[in-house]
Amino acid sequence: MPPRFQAVNIDCNFDYTFETAKLAAAGIDLVLRKSTTEDEIIQACADADAVILEGAKTPMTARVIAALPKCRIIAKYAVGVDNIDLPAATAAGIVVANAADYCTEEVSDHAVALIMASARKVMSMDRFVRRGEWAGFTKANPLRRVSQLTLGLVGLGRIARATARKMAGFQMRILAADPYVKGPSVDGVIEIVPLERLLQESDLISIHVPLMPETRGMIGTAAFKLMKPTAVVINTSRGPVVEQEALITALREKRIGGAALDVVAEEPLPASSPLRDFDSVILTPHTGADSIDSMAHVRRTVVESVSAGLAGYWPPFPVNAKVTPRADLKPFAEYPR
Ligand code: NAD
Repeated sequence: MPPRFQAVNIDCNFDYTFETAKLAAAGIDLVLRKSTTEDEIIQACADADAVILEGAKTPMTARVIAALPKCRIIAKYAVGVDNIDLPAATAAGIVVANAADYCTEEVSDHAVALIMASARKVMSMDRFVRRGEWAGFTKANPLRRVSQLTLGLVGLGRIARATARKMAGFQMRILAADPYVKGPSVDGVIEIVPLERLLQESDLISIHVPLMPETRGMIGTAAFKLMKPTAVVINTSRGPVVEQEALITALREKRIGGAALDVVAEEPLPASSPLRDFDSVILTPHTGADSIDSMAHVRRTVVESVSAGLAGYWPPFPVNAKVTPRADLKPFAEYPR
């Protein structure tokens, strides 16, 4: 009998019949927990060979990671892993796996929806009509031809590239700033420029960077000062990438034209947030990734990451690929599926 492994899902939110059956077939017992504090996670994971999590706030801190004696892999139902202490996991020899491509289509669709709703002022027009008004909106709120506008992508990874591919049909000029992407252009459509230039020249600024120490607050007072007074900031990445107080000040002082936010600094958005009061702000509740299809995709990826990881293979999307794993791993391409 091959050894049985234990995987612990520490922040269960839905029904795990699919995961339980698939992992059992791979010799892995799935334990379901709802652990929110460090101590609860440490207690739940004492015997875990794999830890699974979903929440953006679940504290996978250095202290928790140091208390995982058997764990070989941490797998997350997400792209962003900013709540996992990656250096601590790497030092401990634990592979961290995300589901890098599960919602590329959904988030880029959402970014396109927010970009177009901002460019055509759809939400304000909707409110205008509902207030019983009809004429005069576009005089008070002049519109520009979309093909005359410049789109700036901050970060040029999977989601930003998919957004550019979709927006290219609108024939806008597309700029991108990403220190890890070499210019002068990508796919013959995206012009690589320094962030400062992107902020100065873009009409619509769509943010697609991961939340890391160097991106936290990167769109702050100095960035807003460089933007056009009509510029709209679209954020589908992580709330803290934008300094929220600086954004509110820029909106209040009309230093920018508006914002469209799927993510905010504190989620859910507090009832008292001034962001709710601006007609120029579009808000969605961190649903950029959502669809029935992306949900099925992420569940398959997490099962595959854990099964491969415990069978002695790299997962499909290791985040800390430079880690020296606790057990030798073969390439994912060799994993028999
Ligand atoms: P990705 O890893 O493919 O791309 C991120 C890009 O950001 C990379 O190209 C990287 O080089 C670049 N980058 C890193 N630091 C930078 C910096 N200082 N300046 C400019 N660029 C920088 O990730 P992705 O799949 O495109 O996702 C991007 C982010 O979107 C994720 O990290 C996640 O936080 C967020 N996200 C949000 C949702 C949602 O529901 N709204 C869903 C999935 C992902």
